[in-house]
Amino acid sequence: MLPTTYAIALGSNVRSRYGAPERTLAAALAAIGGVVVASPIIRSAALGPSKRRYANAVALVESDEAPPDLLARLKRIERAFGRRRGQTWGARVLDLDIVLWSGGIWASAGLTIPHAAFRTRAFVLHPLVQIAPSWRDPVTGRTVRQLAHAVDRRRPRS
Ligand code: ADP
Ligand code: MG
Repeated sequence: MLPTTYAIALGSNVRSRYGAPERTLAAALAAIGGVVVASPIIRSAALGPSKRRYANAVALVESDEAPPDLLARLKRIERAFGRRRGQTWGARVLDLDIVLWSGGIWASAGLTIPHAAFRTRAFVLHPLVQIAPSWRDPVTGRTVRQLAHAVDRRRPRS
């Protein structure tokens, strides 16, 4: 069986035991493993009430895990890096989201792929377009490049 390819979005806006958010993302990529290509790290304005800026990146990862198994492992990595419940909109040591996978559409309890919000998130689409511009969103039929252009037209300064 061919390995499955996942696009995983990484974000951090709080220092971890690995250091500043950029170092946290690099350590998280090493913990995830199977990285085929990783985008440059971008810095973006915080969403919600937190004033801290985020470091964000996206990586293409090969794995034999089914989506729920990968998500469970990503959540264990988040916890190992010090993430706590209640950090959804504020300070986050590490956030790992599954954006896309090579299997198309997935929907189960607690897991939707493509990620429900990725089409409107410049901090996901900007790194993603640098490593997978031709990947087609199976829900809208649009490529990552088209989605990135659309988000830039809505928010030209983001
Ligand atoms: P955010 O949506 O900002 O990443 P959280 O990291 O707190 O918020 O995630 C909330 C929940 O979203 C997770 O516990 C997870 O079960 C669920 N979820 C649904 N789809 C996905 C996905 N594609 N990737 C990651 N988490 C997902
Ligand atoms: Mg998340």
